[in-house]
Amino acid sequence: MANFDYIVVGAGSAGAVLAGRLSEDPNRKVLLVEAGARRKPLNVRIPAAFASQFKTKIDWAVHTEPEPHLDGRIIYHPRAKLVGGCSAMNAMIYIRGNAEDYDGWAKDGATGWSYDEVLPLFKRSECNSRGASTFHGADGPLHIEDPRNPNPLDEALLEGMVATGLARNPDFNGASQEGVGYYQVTHRKGERWTTADGYVRPAAKRANFTILAGAHVLGVRVRDGRAVGIEVEQGGRRTFHRAEREVVLSAGAFNTPQLLMLAGIGPADHLREHGIDVVVDNPNVGQNLMDHPLYVANYETTAAGTLAEAESPVQLVKYLGGRRGLLTSNVGEVGGFFHTRPGLAAPDMQLISGPAYFWDNGFQTHDKPAYALGLSLVGSQSKGSVRLRSSDPKAQVRATFNYFAETADMDAMVNGIEMVRAIADSGGLGRVTTKELHPGPAARTRADAEAEIRRNVIHTYHPSCTARIGSEADGVVDPELRVHGVAGLRVADASVFPTIPHGNTHAPAVLVGEKAAEMIRAEG
Ligand SMILES: Cc1cc2nc3c(=O)[nH]c(=O)nc-3n(C[C@H](O)[C@H](O)[C@H](O)COP(=O)(O)OP(=O)(O)OC[C@H]3O[C@@H](n4cnc5c(N)ncnc54)[C@H](O)[C@@H]3O)c2cc1C
Repeated sequence: MANFDYIVVGAGSAGAVLAGRLSEDPNRKVLLVEAGARRKPLNVRIPAAFASQFKTKIDWAVHTEPEPHLDGRIIYHPRAKLVGGCSAMNAMIYIRGNAEDYDGWAKDGATGWSYDEVLPLFKRSECNSRGASTFHGADGPLHIEDPRNPNPLDEALLEGMVATGLARNPDFNGASQEGVGYYQVTHRKGERWTTADGYVRPAAKRANFTILAGAHVLGVRVRDGRAVGIEVEQGGRRTFHRAEREVVLSAGAFNTPQLLMLAGIGPADHLREHGIDVVVDNPNVGQNLMDHPLYVANYETTAAGTLAEAESPVQLVKYLGGRRGLLTSNVGEVGGFFHTRPGLAAPDMQLISGPAYFWDNGFQTHDKPAYALGLSLVGSQSKGSVRLRSSDPKAQVRATFNYFAETADMDAMVNGIEMVRAIADSGGLGRVTTKELHPGPAARTRADAEAEIRRNVIHTYHPSCTARIGSEADGVVDPELRVHGVAGLRVADASVFPTIPHGNTHAPAVLVGEKAAEMIRAEG
């Protein structure tokens, strides 16, 4: 089979960026392998349709084990299976996290990842419609813009937030993250913009770049302590592809640790249970799984023009005709960051709010106009794990998040519910709010609210940290993203975050792709 210098497994938020950037050097032969297809269906392009991708054939549809602190509920995690990865399925909010995240990573040993060191890479990746500034880039591959047709209800939502004491913030990725306002989104002229658009499409024109789509990577072959290539299944055929220099795993926080463990890199006892020969005994592989618990409060409203009207023929014509109207909405149009308690270095709660009913990952509908006030616990501390279900590479992993294992997480979430209730009642929002649907009137006391959270909390779709940067004692990769104990093997995706950033995780995953490319290219 053909040989390549670098093989990148997974064309998602990070992998597409890394492979694209590496291929800018004509002397490097790059292979990008992606289990999903290259086609970009209409419901990927239309921002407001993101949840319609869930549980379809472009979704890995990961399900957790019964969660110990959520009454044994099994939690569904959508994960995109297509070129672009979750950048083609996500809610498009562009947030980098808090400067404290990166400074904390660097302080704990992730040399090179401090905020001052990563800011130039965020800027390099970005083409922000507001133009270049201290905090933003204007000529990178990733289009970022303000919402094209903000919903009339957004101003009322923001009024409610401001009336409870939160300040307006025009740029959460600027000098301060704190406060509320409109989210910038990964759109170009009203349409979703993915890492496939920004990085793979230009790379595909280069002679030194090859993409294999619809190609499931079954395993990484390790010989004498070095990763030498990958086994792939595509269209029923199995092939081997050799990497002359490196294999990089960018398969996301569930599938990257799976591929590591299948290659014999992981907790020795667990690998032996599945009949896998141990190459490196590293108990940290698959550990430290983090996400942000999300509880979405919903309210009925008298306001007109909510997304309940988005599926009308009029809106489809508006969208198809000029990328205008309700379908350009990413649903979570406004929100921001606040502290649920004093003394924290960064705000621990993110509000994600929009002019739509959003419940059970969007699977439930409501027959009257409604809006959502989502609470994403970005300061969450609870950790879980990813383990193998079997040695079959096509089997789903066994994931447990342990949300609310830390009691402080539940206290913060209940405080958050008190906050959204105040918001719904305040300012211009109070005047158009008619009924609380969730948590609902039955959840009166803090104990009721807690029970309601355990029954209905989901997550913000941000699984991370399962192959974290750290020492051999507490991590899986070093700060240059090289897997401890194996040569020629790196990880570059949301798995490597040492801790989950305070905010959405697409931009940080893009950062990982950019930084990995920079570090690899610097090695010559
Ligand atoms: C519904 C949803 C909403 C979200 N909303 C936001 C948001 O608004 N803002 C934000 O910043 N973040 C959001 N996120 C999170 C963000 O999109 C992810 O954190 C980010 O995309 C993760 O990037 P990644 O590179 O780690 O993994 P991914 O983007 O998941 O990429 C992994 C890729 O690897 C491929 N792959 C996996 N296993 C194999 C294999 N064995 N062989 C070949 N290919 C394989 C997958 O198909 C996928 O394409 C959301 C995510 C989802 C799902």
